[in-house]
Amino acid sequence: MKKGSLHTRWTGPMIALGASVLLNILPAVSAQEPASPVAENVVLITLDGLRGEEVFTGADQRLMIKELGVADPEQLRRRYWRESPEERRNALMPFLWGRVAAEGWIAGDVDRDSIVTVTNGKYFSYPGYSELLTGFADDAIDSNAKRYNENQTVLEWLNNQPEFRGAVTAYCSWDVFPYIINDRRSRVGVNAGWSRLTVGDPTRLQVLNFAAENLFHQWDGVRYDVFTTSGALEAMRSAAPRVLYVSLGETDDWAHAGRYDRYLLSAEQNDRFIRQLWDSAQQIPQYRDKTAFLIATDHGRGDGREGWKSHGSNLPGSERIWLAAFGAGIAARGQDEGGRFEQAQVAATVAAVLGFDFQRSDARIAAPLPVLAVGGSP
Ligand SMILES: [Zn+2]
Repeated sequence: MKKGSLHTRWTGPMIALGASVLLNILPAVSAQEPASPVAENVVLITLDGLRGEEVFTGADQRLMIKELGVADPEQLRRRYWRESPEERRNALMPFLWGRVAAEGWIAGDVDRDSIVTVTNGKYFSYPGYSELLTGFADDAIDSNAKRYNENQTVLEWLNNQPEFRGAVTAYCSWDVFPYIINDRRSRVGVNAGWSRLTVGDPTRLQVLNFAAENLFHQWDGVRYDVFTTSGALEAMRSAAPRVLYVSLGETDDWAHAGRYDRYLLSAEQNDRFIRQLWDSAQQIPQYRDKTAFLIATDHGRGDGREGWKSHGSNLPGSERIWLAAFGAGIAARGQDEGGRFEQAQVAATVAAVLGFDFQRSDARIAAPLPVLAVGGSP
């Protein structure tokens, strides 16, 4: 930025003159005022640590083996193995691929030279979610510890826009999200981990909370995605947030546990959950045909019999992710070929869908993804 050096050459009256000239040439758009929204609502969904390998080519034959905790490899193959990558991915995530083919966009297929990169260099969850939600990688974020994020997420920023105040909500399986989104400062409603669900139909909430409290908990810090999704569905029906973040976590945890069968089952289950959120949106007037869906992940994973289980700067492949978008205002460009994108671009995309320029709030924020339908209507 050279602004400072330019100003030093100006004297008092010159500054006043310069300011009035600037006021006349700047477009009359304030930071609060939406430009041109392409949709009225956004649903952002993340699937923790789900590799592009499975998203684009389906189940990995080398990993459907007894040695990797797969109790019944034959049954797993019947469910997910097909001859072509296209058939395999459709067997694993039929809804995602159906939407992308019909009216969406997906990037990150290395076989099409489509590369989506995590730029934080850490390739684990807190740095990834922070990059994805704040629009930039912060080197100071170097652990998954429960520390309040000093940076502002796009959720917080939108929640501070007058027309979105109180209309931004997050349902998250992982109990670190209140810190990543800094719910204390941002006042974004974050329901995370094994917290009770409180928004929705009282009878259904009672059943859901009873089940969540009394089921065996595989992980202390990560609730089952079915409860996260149920909470989000309840919130859509009763509170209709305009910005809804749904953060699913099981894929990563089953991978860390070395259970390739459950990792695949979770991926398929997540696909069903995305379908349910979509179908539910189509039944609610506020959302029907007015809602963009963005799907993303926090990091990739390694490769091979051991590498797939984990992720990090020591495991090549962890830096590569994938991104998808469909629904209102999203251009039907199908599968990206040859593109270069970054995880950090998701944040400004969430705002751009709604007609806001999040980049204006901080020079570090990456540009929105080129997924919006030009001149799209809500
Ligand atoms: Zn992990």
